Amino acid sequence: MASRESAIARALAFFDSDRFRDRLGALVSIPSTSQDPAHATDVQHYLGAAIRPWLERLGFTAAIHPNPREGFGPILTAERIEDPARPTVLTYGHGDTVRGLEDQWRAGLQPWVLTEEGDRWYGRGTADNKGQHALNLSALEAVLDERGGTLGFNLKLVLETSEERGSIGLRDFVAAHRDALAADVLIASDGPRVMPEVPTIATGTRGTYHFDLVVDLRPGGVHSGHWGGLTTDPAVVLSHAIGSIIDRYGRIRVRDWLPANGVPAAVRAVLDGCPVGGGGEAASIDPDWGEPGLTPAEKIYGWNSFIVLAMESGRPENPVNAVAPQARAHCQIRYTVDTDPTGFAPALRRHLDQEGFGQVRIDNAGIRMAASRTDPAHPWVRWAVASMEASLSRRVQVIPNSSGGLPGDVFVDLLGVPLVWIPHSYNGCKQHGPDEHLLTAPAREGMAAFAGLWWDLGEAGTPRSA
Ligand SMILES: [Zn+2]
Repeated sequence: MASRESAIARALAFFDSDRFRDRLGALVSIPSTSQDPAHATDVQHYLGAAIRPWLERLGFTAAIHPNPREGFGPILTAERIEDPARPTVLTYGHGDTVRGLEDQWRAGLQPWVLTEEGDRWYGRGTADNKGQHALNLSALEAVLDERGGTLGFNLKLVLETSEERGSIGLRDFVAAHRDALAADVLIASDGPRVMPEVPTIATGTRGTYHFDLVVDLRPGGVHSGHWGGLTTDPAVVLSHAIGSIIDRYGRIRVRDWLPANGVPAAVRAVLDGCPVGGGGEAASIDPDWGEPGLTPAEKIYGWNSFIVLAMESGRPENPVNAVAPQARAHCQIRYTVDTDPTGFAPALRRHLDQEGFGQVRIDNAGIRMAASRTDPAHPWVRWAVASMEASLSRRVQVIPNSSGGLPGDVFVDLLGVPLVWIPHSYNGCKQHGPDEHLLTAPAREGMAAFAGLWWDLGEAGTPRSA
């Protein structure tokens, strides 16, 4: 007789036989980066030749739609409806990757070839996001086999290909297909667990807000001997302006950018005891960096961060003896739903003016990805926690939002679904640089967790739709 245990065992047998690794290897071999227009046909190929036939084999009806915004990648939708009286789940993934950065991977590795080394599978997209959606669909396949070709629930899928360009067009697309995409809950995977060994559910994402700080003083550079010490140096003014925005220990000084009443009690409660780490060689967690008094988990899941993504004055690769005409920094704020991003630029202007930096301009300010959050106590979140804990025999850590960005806001705003993100990666996976990899232990657990979730969705005891 079909059972939950044998559904999970089936999924794990697929994983352990290396068939999952080989399936992922085939997906990774398609260089579907959306950040290089020369790979547009690879992006098409990923959806049309790799994913669509697989979904159709699993009984989905699939379609590939042009992006509503000219010049951005297509969007695949698929659905598998058994009984409208049963729950309908929406899942999401992205088939595009960042650039390959071919020349930067260490010896023996390359972006478009899956390379196994110990407990790691290297390759572009292994973690972000091919490995994650491939795990979930492979687990679905195991449950379908176990149940003899039925699921007991309805499943819809959106697989976009412009995520690595900011999910451009996704909001317009979902708005135009609201009825077709209607669902009770979003259950999907991207990003890292809080630690590699801690199963995690994120009920939202932080948003991203970008702006340039510009000090533009004169038409061109002037001789550093005749003018240095006499005329204002834009690089120095910009450095001090940044120093007024954030102190040398990473504490944000523009206090209007931050949650007005500190970390909300409900967020603090859910993050109580939440570990952060396991990034390995990727970066160190510096206890003295960031907002004093917050735990590492509160710093990245319950608070806002300011990051200077790039800055330039003159030509660092070819300096000349001149006081540069201009200095520019491209900056980012990662923020939670506890702050209103429309206040960021006005607050910064007030701050810069008060600090005597009237000549520092704020250009190109705006939201790139909006923040989102489902109440961590939502019935669908509790249901998913219970299902995962039953499958993995371990506590699941819930976080009120992932530290990174995902287009969850689109699904909340337009479809009203609660968000259940179940990440399979970890924060040392180097997903946007060279040497991206997936750790096999969390991936294997993710396979088991999703086999359990897909199974439980076909049983009694799912939350009633909102
Ligand atoms: Zn990414």
